[in-house]
Amino acid sequence: LADIFSEKKRSSIMRKIGSRDTSPELKTRNLISSLGYSYKNYSPKLPGKPDIVFSRRKKVIFVHGCFWHGHICRRAKLPQTNKAFWKKKIAGNKLRDRRVRKELANLGWKSLVVWQCQITKVKEKKLKNKLRKFLSSPN
Ligand SMILES: [Zn+2]
Repeated sequence: LADIFSEKKRSSIMRKIGSRDTSPELKTRNLISSLGYSYKNYSPKLPGKPDIVFSRRKKVIFVHGCFWHGHICRRAKLPQTNKAFWKKKIAGNKLRDRRVRKELANLGWKSLVVWQCQITKVKEKKLKNKLRKFLSSPN
């Protein structure tokens, strides 16, 4: 089947989709940098592969998409079709998230979840305060 877009247009579309996926993480990292904290991007050795890792402080941050991780907000609304399937899938994700955070706590790591819907220009100050509080608190 021939693509309706030219090759150039297609790759520009795909690029946009890719960057949209990573942008909540990028924005969170930028906020953290602006607070003067340094971090590692990700540690495959830790349970749940956290998105942002502060090795010396033994703290990690997960940047969660509201839909996939079952946040209670407007962004997490289930689609009208296959509702039972999505419900089960997301309940499974939530269970795994809870288990991962417990495992981290048992290993002495503190974790924080930043929700996608909290990363907006309007809520930036609030999120910054949340990050500052988390990072400056004793373990
Ligand atoms: Zn949300």
